[in-house]
Amino acid sequence: MRAHALTRSGGWAALIVGTVTYAAGGIPFTLLLLAFFVPSVALSRIGRAKKRALVDIGKGGPRDALQVVANGGIASACALAFGLTHDVRLAWAFAGAYAAATADTWATEIGTLARGRPRSIFNLRPVATGMSGAITGAGTAAEVAGAVWLALIAAACLPAAAAGPAGMRALAGIALAGIAGATADSLLGASVQELRYCPACERPCETDPHQCGSATRLVRGLRGLTNDAVNLLATAAGALVGSAFG
Ligand SMILES: [Zn+2]
Repeated sequence: MRAHALTRSGGWAALIVGTVTYAAGGIPFTLLLLAFFVPSVALSRIGRAKKRALVDIGKGGPRDALQVVANGGIASACALAFGLTHDVRLAWAFAGAYAAATADTWATEIGTLARGRPRSIFNLRPVATGMSGAITGAGTAAEVAGAVWLALIAAACLPAAAAGPAGMRALAGIALAGIAGATADSLLGASVQELRYCPACERPCETDPHQCGSATRLVRGLRGLTNDAVNLLATAAGALVGSAFG
């Protein structure tokens, strides 16, 4: 996890997220955090060369502090609130947030590598590989797998989700939370998320300035609503759906 999984600021942010999670939720919450983090790092290492070519659209590379907060901020707030109140719904919200982050990360990492042409979630028209709001068959399968993976760990670890009917409800509810969150991410990514254009490279991108150093212009979406902001909203959606089952 050391080499290039996180930037320096990302490392500090992850340390804070980990500390808050362990202090507030103990080992069960920490296991859920690791169930999100470890496969995410492993997946980001697969096909690195191909992803390096896509880095200009703001994906891939070491995770910085904003990305850590985008994926773990809502969950950490839920953990903190759970530590203070011991309200079971907050434990489910915590798991739902990480289910959404896991589903979205798996979908992005695997969808980016998939051979199939990515399509817009709205009109199914082909779009550039790695672009936000794009879906592929492999990416969607990975999304569901990521949500189910996190739900399995939640059902096994969370004290609130004991064996029997409660365990089954946790499994279904957290998986649903993950799929809902990742779907929200795709919908927002294809509509209100900032999409920019680099006139120098003549290609769409998600950063300003572009990787090449040129200033980019907004072609769609709301100014400032970055990929990180959309990820944060998606984990909030996962937390909401998760808490509804708690
Ligand atoms: Zn450029």
